[in-house]
Order: sequence, then structure tokens, then C-alpha cells
Amino acid sequence: MKLTTLGTSNGDSTYNRFNSSTLLELNDSLYLIDCGAPCEGLLRRAGKDFTKIRAIFITHMDNDHVGGLTELYKEIIKYARYYQHTHIYLAEDAAEAFFVWAGAMRLSRREDVFTFHVVKPGEIYKDENITVEAYPTDHIPYAPVKPVSFAFSVSYEGKRLLHTGDLRDDFTDYPAVLFEEHFDLLLCECTHYKPEVAMPSFLKTKADRMIFIHVAERWHGTAGEMDFYQSYKPIPVPFLLAHDGDVFEV
Ligand SMILES: [Zn+2]
Repeated sequence: MKLTTLGTSNGDSTYNRFNSSTLLELNDSLYLIDCGAPCEGLLRRAGKDFTKIRAIFITHMDNDHVGGLTELYKEIIKYARYYQHTHIYLAEDAAEAFFVWAGAMRLSRREDVFTFHVVKPGEIYKDENITVEAYPTDHIPYAPVKPVSFAFSVSYEGKRLLHTGDLRDDFTDYPAVLFEEHFDLLLCECTHYKPEVAMPSFLKTKADRMIFIHVAERWHGTAGEMDFYQSYKPIPVPFLLAHDGDVFEV
């Protein structure tokens, strides 16, 4: 499977990094985890075919993870083919609010092309390529109803990866499944916690390698990256800090 870290910044875009979105490609199908802006523009610049987007999984409803969805929706419905359908998994029941905002921008309501779902813990999606399971996190502790934030595991071709979404600063919502089951790859955010808080959990994680995304300001730039690699040196498996547009075979 090909994985592209389209956008790797934290809540703020910078000259080199845009908001969070990760693209998965397998057997001519596309899947997105989060679609922070400008996800649509980054997909277009990368030459991707919007008609092949089968599903979009949103870890939580913070703008930096879902702000690119209206642009993406516009492109998908504008060029939709009769055979095409995209499933959108939102971490909260926000489909009606989305259609109202899309309608304000004169985008028509195309439920024949888009189906919205609300993420629940457990298996949420399965097709001939991938199976996706949702694990609750607690990134928004003051939310009146929970869970409203999730990590996603993606199983494909006998392999499995986990994409964390945003976590708490005390790391108490780091998915316990990472200590219990084997993963070929962990994609972990690196904005909301300090290395010394996370390190005990990383040392126990059963992943063969790690890619860090959703990168905090402190790790941006050459000096920041050097500091990052120094700070996380004890991680016992290969790991790296992703940039916008990096492509990985996973
Ligand atoms: Zn975020």
C-alpha cells in the first residue's frame, strides 16, 4: 500500500506544512484519514483521481482535521461518475451541519454520491482492500457526550497500521491496543505531549516502525527536527518525522 502524508502540521499551517491529512492507496482505490485544508489542492497537485476516493475517516471534528472537507466534496460531486460513491466517517453527528454550510456555498446535496456515517468504537468499514476499526481517544475531555475522538487501525494485505489522531497531553488515551497487538506501522501525532511523557508508552508499543505526523511547531525546521530525533532517540524501532508530500510503501 502507498501512504502519502499530505498535510503534517499541527493546528496552524506554515510555509512548509499544511493541516492534517493522510492518503492511503491500494489497488486503484483511495482512502483518506482526516482532511485538513487544503486537502483537495494537495490531492490535485499530486495528480490523484477524486473519483477513486472510496472513504474518508475523520479522527475528530477539530477544524485542522476536517476543514478541507467542503473543497473535497465540491470536487467529488462536480466530476462524479455514475458508479462512484464515497463514504465519510465523521467522529460526531455533523452531516446536517455540513450540508447546511455546503448549501450556503451553493453546493448541492448529493447523497447519491456521498454517504455520511458517525464513527463508533469497533469495526466501522470493510471492503475488498481494507478493514478499518475505531479506537476511542480522549482528545476533547470536556465534550458532554463521548467518545468524539478516535484512532483508526487499517488492516490490509495481511498487515496493519494504526493512525492515532490527536491525543491528550498526559498520554492516558494512547490506544492500549498498541501494547497488546502487533502493528506493522504506527502513525502518531506529535504535538500534544512531551517526549518524556510519551516515552514509556513508546517503549512498550508493539509496532515495527513509527512515522510521526501532526508536527508541533517546536519540531519544525532543521534545528527542530534535530531536536526531535535527539528527544526520541530511545525509541527502539525505526522512526521518522514526516513532511508534507512524503510517500511511503507500507
Ligand atoms: Zn489537531
